[in-house]
Amino acid sequence: MIDFHCHLDLYQSPPAVADESQRRGVGLLSITTTPSAWSGTARLAEGRSAIRTAIGLHPQLAGQRKHELALFDRYLANTPFVGEVGLDGSPECRPFWGDQLEVFDHVLQACSAGDEKVISIHSRRAAKDVLDQLDRYDRIKTPILHWFSGSRSQLERAVGRGCWFSVGPAMLAGAKGRDLVADMPNDKVLLETDGPFAQVRRQGLNPWDITAALGPIAELWGVTVHEAQQRIEANERALLTPVPGALRRPAT
Ligand code: MN
Repeated sequence: MIDFHCHLDLYQSPPAVADESQRRGVGLLSITTTPSAWSGTARLAEGRSAIRTAIGLHPQLAGQRKHELALFDRYLANTPFVGEVGLDGSPECRPFWGDQLEVFDHVLQACSAGDEKVISIHSRRAAKDVLDQLDRYDRIKTPILHWFSGSRSQLERAVGRGCWFSVGPAMLAGAKGRDLVADMPNDKVLLETDGPFAQVRRQGLNPWDITAALGPIAELWGVTVHEAQQRIEANERALLTPVPGALRRPAT
């Protein structure tokens, strides 16, 4: 199984977390928040076949790091994975909304230009705006909405757009998150932790904690934990197989 949204570089000891994930056979998509973090983070994937690195510019940093878009463009060719990108409509991020739009638009445009990219997208309090942007770039076939927290109708719109959804133990801890997961098509659901930020019972999640999501998901789907795991592993293959370079470790 694969943790599709994990900030490996931000753990206290990234190599230890990387080794333990590798040992447990848990794959992880190592998400960066700035292009300048790419080189150091991609190095953590060297020699570890279960780790892939994504190039990102987090919407919460769009105001401060917009100047790193040139670096984003340079590293984009190294990987079929992009994230964390998106929009954040929280009050503290509203002052640089214009920068967020500029960065996300740039990213989507760059991702539309070449080989297919798998994009892990943040949409907190901005689901409508994220979907509006995605509608403008129909060449993007593999958007993953990470920790989706929009409305029921926005979820329907995202499903209609062909979005995937990465969900994790923290999202499943709340009733709203569980209701949304229940409404997601089973064949579009992936797992994530959003570690080390996301916590359950005040413990930061490790990549292998994705397994804690299987029980609640199985319950929502009315299947056994084993069946839920098989469904999700089939989803992972369906997502990754058609993406050029996704199953090959990217150059660093
Ligand atoms: Mn994140």
